[in-house]
Amino acid sequence: MDDRTTETTTPAFPDGLPLVRPRIPDREAVLRRIDAVLRSGQLTDGPTVRELEAQAAEMLGVREVVAVASCTTGLLLVCQALGMTGRVVVPSFTFSATAHVVAWNGGTPVFADVDRATLTIDAADVERRLDGATGILATHLYGTPCDTEALEKVANRAGLPLVFDAAHALGSRKSGVPVGRFGAAEVFSMSPTKVAVAGEGGLVATDDTDLAQRLRVARNYGNPGDYDCVVPGLNGRMSELHAALAVEALVALDEDVRHRNTLAAAFHDALAGVPGISVPAVSDGDTSTFKDLAIIVEPDAYGLDADALAAALSAEGIDSRRYYHPPVHRQAAYADAAATELPVTEWAARRTLCVPLWSTMDEPTVRLVADVVRRSARPST
Ligand SMILES: *Cc1c(COP(=O)(O)O)cnc(C)c1O
Repeated sequence: MDDRTTETTTPAFPDGLPLVRPRIPDREAVLRRIDAVLRSGQLTDGPTVRELEAQAAEMLGVREVVAVASCTTGLLLVCQALGMTGRVVVPSFTFSATAHVVAWNGGTPVFADVDRATLTIDAADVERRLDGATGILATHLYGTPCDTEALEKVANRAGLPLVFDAAHALGSRKSGVPVGRFGAAEVFSMSPTKVAVAGEGGLVATDDTDLAQRLRVARNYGNPGDYDCVVPGLNGRMSELHAALAVEALVALDEDVRHRNTLAAAFHDALAGVPGISVPAVSDGDTSTFKDLAIIVEPDAYGLDADALAAALSAEGIDSRRYYHPPVHRQAAYADAAATELPVTEWAARRTLCVPLWSTMDEPTVRLVADVVRRSARPST
């Protein structure tokens, strides 16, 4: 295996290394639950959903969890319920859904820049862009918690609701406190590329019981029970079949997040000293889920840019993604915002590349990926 000539002809991962592999929960337990659902005849928004909501609320330490069909649906309904229907400040360095939910509520996303170290939204830049805003929607990028304290201060000073797109952050902690407890509400995703998966699904966490109640009505078309709809709602319910998967997916979550942190640490350690390669920071005392394992490629020092490194990885069978390129304000759907000045976002979008990480991966695998990154460097010396 140390034969250099073999190495150049045989890829490091001949069968390919995919970017993500969903952790499928205990099969027997899921099948038992699905069987019970089928026998009961209640296929949506029933006792399994109630059980999931109670279990997630306890795990997160919040008063209420409202299960929904997806994180996108949850964010749509939260923005509607909180009146975030005009200008809403969002990051551009995020998945497109963060901005889409603002647009679907008839509003306009106002893009703010991100912090150069953590790549999460920059609270000071948010404050500069609040003119006429109806709220702030921030993303815990790659599962790394935002500066929640700074954002809460900015939101409180302006008297605006603060909501978190926590799609990546089920299992993350800010100074030991579970993500889910910050702002007016936080919305998680359980879709297949996330850390805990339900097939499709979302969870809204909040301490505001009135908001939770309104979301329960809104996810059911806005119908409070008498068909006299109080808001134009959606079918945003989670099915019992998805809840059966979701309940079992939460069982391994803490252990998986710990393991992902071990893998990320090994990966970072193995990359130390590679010229032009760095990684986004997680603040001291915080825990990221590492929903994505990102590296930052400085083309001048590394000798390749992010695209060229992606090609080098691909030649070794390793999948990768340029999360997030193009950043949302550069996407065709938001052409009106293309000229927004977001220097750190542009810098990060050109340089970040996400490499494979999943909860059942082993340490030699991440070390081998790091080794390929190290070997692919072409420093000019
Ligand atoms: C995946 C994702 C979403 C959407 O989640 P769904 O459950 O698929 O609707 C929203 N925001 C971010 C940042 C995401 O990565």
